[in-house]
Parts: sequence; structure tokens; C-alpha cells
Amino acid sequence: MPSYFVILILEPNVDKESQSYEQLLSYLESLSDIEYRIHDIQGSEIRITEVYLIGNTKALSRDHMRSLPTVERVVLVSESYRILGRHEDDHRPTGFDYNGLRFGQDTFHVFAGLCAVDTREHVEMMLKALNERGQVCTRMGAYKPRTSPYSFQGHGRECLPFVFEVAGKYGIKVIAMEVTHESHIDEINRALDEAGRPTGVMLQIGTRNTQNFELLKAVGRQVTYPVLFKRGFGITLDESLNAAEYLASEGNRMVIFALRGMKTNMGDPHRNLVDFAHVPTIKRLTRMPVCIDPSHSVGSRDRSPDGLLDTMHVTAQGIIAGANMVLVDFHPAPNEALVDGPQALRMNELGLFLDDAAIVREAYLKRVAALKA
Ligand code: PEP
Ligand code: MN
Repeated sequence: MPSYFVILILEPNVDKESQSYEQLLSYLESLSDIEYRIHDIQGSEIRITEVYLIGNTKALSRDHMRSLPTVERVVLVSESYRILGRHEDDHRPTGFDYNGLRFGQDTFHVFAGLCAVDTREHVEMMLKALNERGQVCTRMGAYKPRTSPYSFQGHGRECLPFVFEVAGKYGIKVIAMEVTHESHIDEINRALDEAGRPTGVMLQIGTRNTQNFELLKAVGRQVTYPVLFKRGFGITLDESLNAAEYLASEGNRMVIFALRGMKTNMGDPHRNLVDFAHVPTIKRLTRMPVCIDPSHSVGSRDRSPDGLLDTMHVTAQGIIAGANMVLVDFHPAPNEALVDGPQALRMNELGLFLDDAAIVREAYLKRVAALKA
């Protein structure tokens, strides 16, 4: 057998005080040239323990490993996305729970909100509107990676106290928020602590930082916050998936992969070439939930003769293909927005957008059910 990266999946809720678990560990200790790492994934009901074997696994047969005490299944990984990838005989569940919400390849959430936080008033208008529509997720950019150093860079940590306070007031559970530097994680942590943790944060890695490996390692080392990882806009899908793996290899597997369009003028007049055909591809290659960002893909408020905005059309294209999350820019006063005003949807379009997304999600579920019938 060639040397594989091996994942031993132990019985659910394995008792770590038990004799059989002890036996497994002492057997693993006895193997020369093989190191092992133990990783627990705590779900709402069960804890799954995985043991990674790294090194010279050639001499170990699958049957032998399956027969080890407390081992339920064995996954042999030869491909690059070792942890986040979906491998042969790999029927492990996808996704994770965070702040009372489930994110998986079978769930669906909309994260509508401000591209960049500007005023408290606009944050409040946005979150109040979401609350009235029963929404519990949003996007709020505090740290903005800008093309020009002279453009507005985001209010940074200054705005965090009011963003978190208002989010708590309107029952928001998860805010997608980009970080561009390791220190931003501490700033978010501190501000959430000071506010009494009224809400949760999903750390976003922007497309300009997809291959900022040191940032990925830092974000991957923490397991408090899940990560929304944007595909690089000028690299292959394989390169982006490998980059996402950096997060997992450092310990954080709560990763959602976001498509946001590719930088090429072949997509004109859209800001980027919409790449939502890759939604099912990523679900096949990996166990990550997949997000689409129609705002940064289309980049305008253009609409087709049927009256629907291009942004809504591409959103539907992503959802009908099984997208698990939509990240979308709204703004109560797009003319006053400091970043990306021209692509923002308006407050009076929120209901329409959410209803349209729900129609298409239902159609997707019907497509899957038809297949199983
Ligand atoms: C954003 O979502 O605000 C953003 C900057 O996106 P991207 O990194 O995809 O350009
Ligand atoms: Mn933006």
C-alpha cells in the first residue's frame, strides 16, 4: 500500500478514560515513523474524535486499522486537501455549529448587510430591517482591503463596540467580518468580550488575502470563530482549495468556501466573471459549505428586461446549484456608502431578495428530492 495520510474515525462519543481507548493510544505510540494527532469535533449531540496518522503508513493495512480498538472507520487520503477534502469512502458529516446555527452542505443562510460599516445609524437601519424579516446573520466590514491606499480603509476597531451592541439588540447571531491582519482577531475578541458577547463573528478572508499564508495560519490557529474563506480572484480553484486547507491544518475546520467571481475582462460588463458553476464542484471535492457573493461578482445594479437585477439572477443561479450561503451587499443610503455603494441593494429590495432566494432554495430542494424519489 502506498503511504497515505490516514484518518481513523473513532466511535461517536468515545470514552477517553476507557481501556480500549488507552489500548489504541499505546498501539499508536508503538509505531515507528508515524506521528498521530487527535482532533475532536463537538456537535450539538455527538462528539466525533478523529486521529490523523502522519508519516510512513505503508505497512498498515486498512483492515488492520479498522480492527483497532474504538476505531469505527478508516479514511485514506492521498489528495492535497487532506482535512477539508472529501475522500474515497468518506461519508463524514459536513459543516459545524456556531452560536446556535448549523452550517453544512445541506443548510442555507443569507448574510445581507453593509459592505463597510460607516455610521451607527446605517448599521441600525440595516439590522432592524433584517430582524423584521426574521434574519439572524449579516455582513459588516470593519477592516477593508482597498485597491488604493488613499481610499477609506474601514473604521476598524473603533466601530466594533456599536456594531456588536446593535447586533445584540436585533438578535443577530453571526456577523461575517473580514480581517486583514492577525491583530484584528484580538481586537474583535476584546470588543466582543467588552460588549458581553451579544453576537457572534465569522472571520472573513478576502480574495486579496487568499494566499496570505501567515494570515491563514493565524486565523486557523484560533477555533473560537468560523471562517468565511473567499476564493482568490486570479488563481485556480485548486490553489484556492489548498489555501483553505491552511486554516484546517492549523486546527480550524469551521470553514465556508466563498465564490465571488474571477478577475478577467471576459466577464464584462460584470465586475468579475461569475463562477457559481463551481458550487457543486466544491461540494464534491470538499466537505465545506459553499457561499456565493453575487455583489462582488456582478458589481452593479444593472438589470435585465425582465426587471430582475443581474445580482438577483446570479444569486438564483448559485442557489439552484446548491449554494449554502449568500453574502450580499445592502445599504440604506447607497449614495452615502463609503465602499461599493453602486452595487448595494436597497432596503426596499430586502423582502424581494429574501423571497426570491427562498423560491429558488425550495426549487433546489425539489430537484434533489426528485432524484431520490
Ligand atoms: C467583501 O466581501 O467586502 C470583499 C472585499 O470581498 P472580496 O474579498 O471578495 O473582494
Ligand atoms: Mn465590497
